[in-house]
Amino acid sequence: MIDFPEFQNIRKVAARERIPFSCTGCANCCKNVRDSILLNPLDVFRLVKHFREQGSVQPPEEILEDLADLKELSRGFYIYVLKTINDGGVCRLLKSGRCTVYDSRPSTCRLYPFSPDFKVDGTAQWNLCLEQPHHFEGGCVTAREWKRRYLKKEDIHFFQEEAKRLPLIGKLLHDVPDTRLQEAEIWMLTFYYYTYSYDEPFLPQYKDNMAFLTARLKELQNE
Ligand code: SF4
Ligand code: SF4
Repeated sequence: MIDFPEFQNIRKVAARERIPFSCTGCANCCKNVRDSILLNPLDVFRLVKHFREQGSVQPPEEILEDLADLKELSRGFYIYVLKTINDGGVCRLLKSGRCTVYDSRPSTCRLYPFSPDFKVDGTAQWNLCLEQPHHFEGGCVTAREWKRRYLKKEDIHFFQEEAKRLPLIGKLLHDVPDTRLQEAEIWMLTFYYYTYSYDEPFLPQYKDNMAFLTARLKELQNE
């Protein structure tokens, strides 16, 4: 397991706190991002859809293999993290100083320099990343405004569902007997990330997948 650098060098902020901030488009926040850009299933759904619209016929797991590495977040729970290139940890999707998946970029990127911890009721604790001090001058922004600007209803419902479902999934994975762990990991990856129809809305599929995964992990406890 690894320490994710995105959890360091942040401070909590109130949603209405006014933060001096102005983006110059320097793309520094797309560099030195090794193990920083975690991909949730909605991020992956949008990225896979993006590459399919560009003509890719690869299954999602192959598209992901090109884009991201799997990292173990907790016992049996693997999460995709965007790949970086060279010693500078430059995001693999940055080309000539531009994001090549801008409209489908992960939520971490869309919300930067803020990041939310959503709760089941849809409220969030907001954090501010302090790693790039040069952009904290000029304009004035709030996390509340960022939420309105960069999160769709689908994102917020998804974050609420994650807050509701992931603690139980984490506990079930923690309690899976060693002899069934590998099987549990495969179920987890399959239903968390891969089993979607890209012509259908994401959220109902995610809910069905997570309900199925929860039931399957419960069965594994007793087999
Ligand atoms: S958010 Fe900051 S680091 Fe990122 S492109 Fe804008 S100015 Fe540069
Ligand atoms: S996905 Fe795009 S916005 Fe996010 S780090 Fe990579 S290049 Fe930057």
